[in-house]
Amino acid sequence: MMMPVHFNPRGNVPLCRSGPLHTIAALLALTLMGATAPGAPSPSSRPNILFIMADDHAAHALSAYGSRINRTPNIDRIGREGMRFENCFAVNSICSPSRASILTGKYSHVHGVTVFNRFDGSQWTFPKAFQQAGYFTAIIGKWHLFSDPTGFDYWNILPGQGKYHDPTFIEMGNRTNLQGYVTDLITDLTLATLERRPRDKPFLIFCHHKAPHRPWEPNPKHAALYESENIPEPPTFNDDYATRCDAAREATMTIDRHLTRNDLKLPPPPGLSPQQTNRWRAEVDLELELNLGGQTQRLAGPSLKRWKYQRYIKDYLRCVASVDENVGRLLDYLDRTGLSRNTIVIYTSDQGFFLGDHNWYDKRFMYEESIRMPFLIRYPERIRPRSASRKMILNVDFAPTLLELAGLPVPPDVQGRSFKPLLEGRPPHDWRTAWYYRYYHYPGDHRVQPHYGVRTDRYKLIYFNRLDCWELFDLKRDPHELHNVYGQPRYAPVVRQLKDQLARLRQELGDHDQLQDVQR
Ligand code: CA
Repeated sequence: MMMPVHFNPRGNVPLCRSGPLHTIAALLALTLMGATAPGAPSPSSRPNILFIMADDHAAHALSAYGSRINRTPNIDRIGREGMRFENCFAVNSICSPSRASILTGKYSHVHGVTVFNRFDGSQWTFPKAFQQAGYFTAIIGKWHLFSDPTGFDYWNILPGQGKYHDPTFIEMGNRTNLQGYVTDLITDLTLATLERRPRDKPFLIFCHHKAPHRPWEPNPKHAALYESENIPEPPTFNDDYATRCDAAREATMTIDRHLTRNDLKLPPPPGLSPQQTNRWRAEVDLELELNLGGQTQRLAGPSLKRWKYQRYIKDYLRCVASVDENVGRLLDYLDRTGLSRNTIVIYTSDQGFFLGDHNWYDKRFMYEESIRMPFLIRYPERIRPRSASRKMILNVDFAPTLLELAGLPVPPDVQGRSFKPLLEGRPPHDWRTAWYYRYYHYPGDHRVQPHYGVRTDRYKLIYFNRLDCWELFDLKRDPHELHNVYGQPRYAPVVRQLKDQLARLRQELGDHDQLQDVQR
């Protein structure tokens, strides 16, 4: 058993916003590390891993995924020099459950994080396996699992959701306040960790951004980005939920009726106490008098909804711009230090997000924009540049895949499946054609009814268990999921088949509990 290595990566390395400072000694150490000692395993059998994860970054806000609303040149580079997965999904589309599924390769009902509850850090995780196999392991940034990280030689995390400006970090149990913008700081700390890591070990480093999570506060230097532009509205912006179960109408996360004054960055009137200011900011306006282009205008209904969307989406995209810029800094560092070839670089997000789609922000629902995660991976030794896969992969697959890429055994109780063959361009004939989703958090923050379901390449069947109501979408004919066709006679054979698949998946995954449908 390896003893954890305690070290302080902030140590003597000055943190620099524009990049790490290099010393001749550090560069020399990196050069020497490239030489393989006789008898040591070849570098490719022990790849380094840099796992970059954003929070709530929807795939459709990445130009690599054909975004209509922004450009992400640095993040795109990972896909261009490696592989883009077009169908990567979260099995429970909220932060903490997805993070626990990534660490364990298991579903919520197995790892125990169904909602925003504490992760039991005594259970097996894949970073523990890497640590025990001699890897240096570290996590920097958002953790959001309520227990201290385990399986990491070094950790420096945000408490809970963390703050965008001048955030507090918890470094190995000690709180420190840092000045600056959170996305820059998480990158600074990741670069410092890379600089100070032990040079005789491969590394597994998680760089977990807080951005672009609500309340979408940009770096001041990006405040004017998109200012003069009109960001296109999504095609489902005016969805009326006409054919859906009541869950869609009940959810409190609409652009027009639920974005608060704080979300929209409306300035509070002067003279309020801090408590009054907080109450003022939490309110919602259904009419607003605004000074637009030098003229006072009263907005309500569709015109106010369009204005709110622009306010929301521009701040979201400004936060994404900072993430993209900082991913560029990490890639530059790997290039400069000769680490790019033998380092697996991943860019993903803990789930997707509604960007005004269906009139929503947030995630949770089993609809496409919410469950779809961006997943770009670069590993020059094994992955062909500019490759792409449409096979369905899941967040529970990350752990077994990375273990297999590092030549480490996958425990039999891991529920995900390694997609290493897909990375190598050898898709197995028996790759999954259906997968199981389950969401629990109700009433939670946005009154999204608990539900579970099955998604295949063509169809999606959703069951809202408290409402006893079903939805079926034909993703080929209706990719935007605007028409629930459950109950239409011509789909009866499809429904029968999907219900069989759903029952089989629940059986296989050991999810027999019908009662975990309310927030604990
Ligand atoms: Ca999230």
